[in-house]
Amino acid sequence: MLYQRSSQLFAEAEKVIPGGVNSPVRAFKSVGGTPIFVKEAKGAYLYDEDGNRLIDYINSWGPMILGHAYEPVVQAVIEKAKKGTSFGMPTEIETEIASLAISMVPNIDKIRFVNSGTEACMSAVRLARGFTSREKIIKFKGCYHGHSDSFLIQAGSGAVTFGAPNSPGVTMGTAKDTLLANYNDLGHVQEILENNRGEVAAIIIEPVAGNMGCVPPIKGFLEGLRALCDAHGTLLIFDEVMTGFRLARGGAQELFGVKADLITFGKVIGGGLPVGAFAGRHEIMDYLAPVGPVYQAGTLSGNPLAMAAGLTMLKSIESDLELFRRLEEKTAYLERGIRKVLMDRNIEHTINRVGSMISVFFDEREVLDFETAGYGNNDTFKKFFHGLLAEGVYIAPSSYETWFITDALTYEDLDYTINAVNKVFS
Ligand code: PMP
Repeated sequence: MLYQRSSQLFAEAEKVIPGGVNSPVRAFKSVGGTPIFVKEAKGAYLYDEDGNRLIDYINSWGPMILGHAYEPVVQAVIEKAKKGTSFGMPTEIETEIASLAISMVPNIDKIRFVNSGTEACMSAVRLARGFTSREKIIKFKGCYHGHSDSFLIQAGSGAVTFGAPNSPGVTMGTAKDTLLANYNDLGHVQEILENNRGEVAAIIIEPVAGNMGCVPPIKGFLEGLRALCDAHGTLLIFDEVMTGFRLARGGAQELFGVKADLITFGKVIGGGLPVGAFAGRHEIMDYLAPVGPVYQAGTLSGNPLAMAAGLTMLKSIESDLELFRRLEEKTAYLERGIRKVLMDRNIEHTINRVGSMISVFFDEREVLDFETAGYGNNDTFKKFFHGLLAEGVYIAPSSYETWFITDALTYEDLDYTINAVNKVFS
């Protein structure tokens, strides 16, 4: 495949946009080469500026769970746009999507909409601090919760791909309130809580980590965090920006049967438009302005186009009783197919998967945390990425990322992909 026009467009972009991209991981830094410029997308496919068709396993990093340009969402946005795109005043649709989200997700009474996952996590942490009158938080190495200052301490995703886990610009004052724990290591969390007794406002976690590749919680880990939080008067925040409305209707809380105190959302909840949200019980959420003392706001929050896209997306998910079964089956099929190829060809690997989140690490050791996730960041991954790209299969351009399977993929697409993997290693 040729990427001539993409290369030209990237060269132009680099002159006026730092690194040519508006979000770092798009830049192919860790795998090399030039990023592909998308012209349009439909269903499971991307069509780039050179006229190539690519099977998409990133799906805008999660949101497009029903495929690109999903017709009901497109129509809803068009109809809404005709009636005005922003008012900065309340609209009925905000209550509609709030009520639907609350009915789908366990353990939340109220939800507030923002414009990104970053905003959702940043606001949830402020709320937790205000509610508990404590300042410190615990986050896990390799987990990413957006680019807000408190979280850029050994974050995953682009922040680690670029080898700058502690970004300049984050002050020491801020960094000292973020305590770092090892994912899947309950003993470590307990030790931190005991050393900071009465000071930890919240533990924030990706209940299935997706920003160091896909790393599932080991059995008992999330339950253990719940118990530790209860014992220490600390709030448990599930960052469900990736897992929400993806792993189950009720997200990771439903899948694992563990209750969080605050839940953050992004990606799927916006149907591909810029939406984030955070939610929890009455008593915590009513600590927010204008009823409570914790301030949080947004000119475009609850924007009508975003709400129309999100509402249509959630309705589609809610009414499709087979969706999560299909996603599980398709992703399990892909996993089996890829594993067989890699075993037949004697390629060292570990595949981690929960529902429609999956990643392939090129190392045979188990991947359970940030350190072990690093084993797979190697030349085989680069070969894999570029090999698949040459076959028209687009996966995340970093081993520290998860693939997001869309329901728009057919079994033909999956077979094509498995064959492509075989070709790459033949
Ligand atoms: N939390 C998680 C778990 C994420 O994966 C991301 C983004 N990938 C964010 C928060 C930040 O979301 P956004 O990029 O919408 O700000």
